[in-house]
Amino acid sequence: MSDKKQNKRNNNKNNYDEDYNPRFRKQRKKVCVLCSDKNFVLDYKNPEQLRKFINDKGKILPRRTTGACAKHQRDITIAVKRARHIAILPYTQN
Ligand SMILES: [Zn+2]
Repeated sequence: MSDKKQNKRNNNKNNYDEDYNPRFRKQRKKVCVLCSDKNFVLDYKNPEQLRKFINDKGKILPRRTTGACAKHQRDITIAVKRARHIAILPYTQN
């Protein structure tokens, strides 16, 4: 009887195929924009550049969205905050 139960369980396991289970969906790995491009210099006086790292509300995007590494995400955060302080970027939008 216990064997039967185990078989059932194994069958269920096989049904959760990696390709179909959304929990184990393969994600494309994001590469940090600043690491990949050596000539990319983050400038807090350049709002066009920083606008890529904020959403339409003016919030700084999280790392999972920007794909930046921890070091560069820190730089981005500081740059955005500096830009806000000198009124280049908005703190908030409606
Ligand atoms: Zn980086």
